Amino acid sequence: MSATIIDGKAIAARVRAEVAREVEVFTQRAGRAPGLATVLVGEDPGSTVYVAGKQRACREVGMVPFDRRLSAKAPFEEVAEELRSLNKDEAVNGVLLQLPVPDHLDESELTAMIDPRKDVDGLTPVNVGLLSLGRPGMRPCTPLGVMELLADAEVKLEGAEAVIVGRSNLFGKPMAQLLLAENATVTTCHSRTRNLRDVCARADLLIAAVGHPRLIERDFVKPGAVVIDVGINRLTPEEAGNASGLVGDVDFTCVAGIASAITPVPAGVGPMTIALLLRNTLQAARRQARIEG
Ligand code: NAP
Repeated sequence: MSATIIDGKAIAARVRAEVAREVEVFTQRAGRAPGLATVLVGEDPGSTVYVAGKQRACREVGMVPFDRRLSAKAPFEEVAEELRSLNKDEAVNGVLLQLPVPDHLDESELTAMIDPRKDVDGLTPVNVGLLSLGRPGMRPCTPLGVMELLADAEVKLEGAEAVIVGRSNLFGKPMAQLLLAENATVTTCHSRTRNLRDVCARADLLIAAVGHPRLIERDFVKPGAVVIDVGINRLTPEEAGNASGLVGDVDFTCVAGIASAITPVPAGVGPMTIALLLRNTLQAARRQARIEG
């Protein structure tokens, strides 16, 4: 068997084009474009690249980016004040605190300060609670992006055995909730899971979000399973076997021979996160302006 490659880059481009069209309509009706603020504390090179990407993507779909940068030594109160001021600013519809923040800051306390209506990352306690209750709210972008990929590939979720490896608040837990809401039978694995290989091999849908290069090998995968690789691991181009030096948590070459569909790294889940951030921002802007989508 040779798996269908799920082309995240193309699907993300389609979502972004849709958002751009809808932003145009929103802007005409509201008299201004949706605004997205990113807050970056410190100069972590990875985070700086991610923030630049989000700012650029925002401009490309006709939204207004707000770029807030604070020093790596900024005290808690300074970051808190920035978030409070963005919460109050009517030109800003979405507020995103780039994670991780420096060690002296309490990430969860700061995240919780974001107005839930502007929480386009879906990470505040209010939105986490709404997701868990199955009520409308802002959902985290990467798991939403995976749902979009699964819908595009017409993967049947109802009754499917779904196994997620990784239980982070950012990805694994919300992913489990979104799949449960679509009536999948969900198992969430983590570093203390016994017989990981056997648990994974039960899955009709296997999703890896671990941060461990090529952890998922061929014998973790049931023949015909759909495999989604969320991991982004940086190796040398020689180790990775590609120019970007990026590999996922799945041994792509081996697993593609047994799965029915698989996402590559790069160009799989990665591009979806920003696309869904843009869609979340548009939705937040519509709700705040009371404009139907
Ligand atoms: P995280 O917070 O570090 O969580 C990793 C999870 O993997 C934890 O639940 C951990 O278990 C589990 N784990 C670690 N080693 C394991 C092992 N040997 N066997 C089974 N489970 C193991 O990471 P994250 O934020 O969810 O991110 C995971 C990966 O996805 C990273 O590579 C990250 O870069 C990538 N990511 C990509 C995107 C995107 O846009 N494509 C977005 C988010 C994340 P414990 O809970 O027991 O420690």
